[in-house]
Amino acid sequence: MTKAMTPRSRKVRVLATLGPASNSPEMIERLFEAGADAFRINMSHGDQDSKIPVIKAIRGLEKRLGRPTTILADLQGPKLRVGKFAEGSAMLAAGHEFTLDRNPEPGDATRVELPHREIFEAIEEGARLLLDDGKLVLRVVSHGHDWITTRVEVGGKLSNSKGLNVPDVVLPMAALTDKDRSDLAFAIDQGADWIALSFVQRPEDLAEARKLIGGRAALLAKIEKPSAVARLEEIVEMCDGVMVARGDLGVELPPESVPPLQKRIVEVARRMGRPVIVATQMLESMITAPTPTRAEVSDVATAVYDGADAIMLSAESAAGDFPVESVAMMNSIADSVERDPAHGDRVHFTVTRPDPTTADAIAEAAKSISATVSATAIVCFTSSGSTARRIARERPAVPILVLTPSLETARRLGLLWGVHAVHTKDVGSFEEMVAKSKRMALRHNIAEAGDRMVVCAGVPFGTPGATNVVHVVRLLGDELRGRD
Ligand code: ATP
Ligand code: MG
Ligand code: MG
Repeated sequence: MTKAMTPRSRKVRVLATLGPASNSPEMIERLFEAGADAFRINMSHGDQDSKIPVIKAIRGLEKRLGRPTTILADLQGPKLRVGKFAEGSAMLAAGHEFTLDRNPEPGDATRVELPHREIFEAIEEGARLLLDDGKLVLRVVSHGHDWITTRVEVGGKLSNSKGLNVPDVVLPMAALTDKDRSDLAFAIDQGADWIALSFVQRPEDLAEARKLIGGRAALLAKIEKPSAVARLEEIVEMCDGVMVARGDLGVELPPESVPPLQKRIVEVARRMGRPVIVATQMLESMITAPTPTRAEVSDVATAVYDGADAIMLSAESAAGDFPVESVAMMNSIADSVERDPAHGDRVHFTVTRPDPTTADAIAEAAKSISATVSATAIVCFTSSGSTARRIARERPAVPILVLTPSLETARRLGLLWGVHAVHTKDVGSFEEMVAKSKRMALRHNIAEAGDRMVVCAGVPFGTPGATNVVHVVRLLGDELRGRD
C-alpha cells in the first residue's frame, strides 16, 4: 500500500530552487515539509555530476512519502555570465574602473573573466552592462578585442558566475548552446519531469527543444526577452508551461513594465491552459534575513490572487541563509490568501471560456457541478494528464484528485494549480471507478463520510484521450469502516 499523505490544503504550488544551501537529502525533506511541492535544479550552477545525488535525494523522498515528486531542470540558455573570483566574490566600488577580459584567472575588485567572445565584438562605448539581475551597473569606457574597461555606476558585491545583460546592444544569440544540449540530454537521462528553456525568443526555439526532448519531459518556456513578449501567444501555444522570469525580464525591459507584463503572461497562460510560474526575487530579502519585507509578502500574494499555478524561490532556497524559513513563509502567505473569501472571485477575474471540445465541456461541467452540489473534490482518471490540465484551467474551488497509472504524468502534474496526483493502477469498470474514487479520497484525506465528489473518467476504460463521463458520488458512513 502507498502511504497515505494528506495533501496540502492550498491550490497554488511552491517551487523551490535547490543549491548549495539545500542540496542535501535532509534539507530537501525539510523544504518539502515546509511546503515545497516541486524542486528546480538550475543547470547554470555546478556541474552535471553534482546534480546526480540531488535528483536521487528527491526521488528517495518520493519513495519514502509515497507521493510523486516534481523535478524541473532549468537550462541556462544563452545567458551571459561573468567568470569566477579568487575570493568567490569582489566588492565593486562606484566611480572606480572595472575590467572584463578573456583571462580565465580568478578575478578581484579590478577585473574578472567574461567567457563570451561575441560581446567583445559587439560591445559599444557608452553601453551599460547590468550585473546580477541589474543590481550592479557598469558603463563601457573603452574596449578592445579581448577587454572591456568600464566605470562602475552602481557598485556592490559581485560573486561567481553572476548574470550579465547588455540591453543597449543587440547580440547574436543561439537558442540552445552546446552546454544546453548536453545539459538537456543529461537531465532527460536523469529523469527530470520538466525542462525549462531560458531566453526563448521565437516559437522555433521551442520546436527545436521539443524535438530533442522527444516526449520524455514536459517543456517550459521562460519569458524573459522582449522578443518573447512580442510573440507571447505563439510561444505559449508551443510549450507545456510558462515561467514569468522576472529577473532578466526586468533588466531587458524597464522594471516598471514587469507588473503589467506579469499579469498579461499569467492571463494568457491560464486562458491557453498552460501552467504558469511566477519567479524571481519573490522573498529576496530572506536570502539574508529570517523575515521578508511587507512589499515581498504583497508580491507573493499578488501572484496567488492572479491565479498563477506556482510561485518560485530562487536564491532564497538555493543559496540563502534561511531556505526553510523562505519556503515556510511562502506557504503561509499562500494559505492566508487562499483563506480570503475574496480569493476565488479574484482568481476568476480572468475568464477562461471552454474550447469547443469534449474535454472542456467535461472540465467546465465538473467545476460547475462541484459548486452546485457543494462537492469536496473533483476526482479525475487520466493517463496523459490532459483532462487534469483542463480541469485545473477551470480553477475549481475544490481540490482535484488525479488518479493516473503513469508515474511520469503524476510527476509532471506537480506544477499544476489544485492538483493532487496519485500514481495508481487503472480501473476496468464503472463500479471499480466509483469504488476507487472513494477509497483514494478517504486514504488521502480529501473527503470523508457524507461528502460528495465529482468523478471524471473515460469510457471505455483504459482508452486514453476519451474523457466523456462526469459522475457524482457520495461517500456513505459504512464505507469508512474497515478501510486502511
Ligand atoms: P537564472 O537566470 O536561471 O534564474 P540565476 O543565476 O538567477 O539564474 P537562480 O537559480 O535564480 O540563479 O538563483 C540561485 C542563486 O544561488 C544563484 O544566483 C547563485 O548565486 C546561487 N547558486 C550557487 N550555486 C548554485 C547551484 N548549484 N544551484 C543553484 N543556485 C546556486
Ligand atoms: Mg534567468
Ligand atoms: Mg534567477
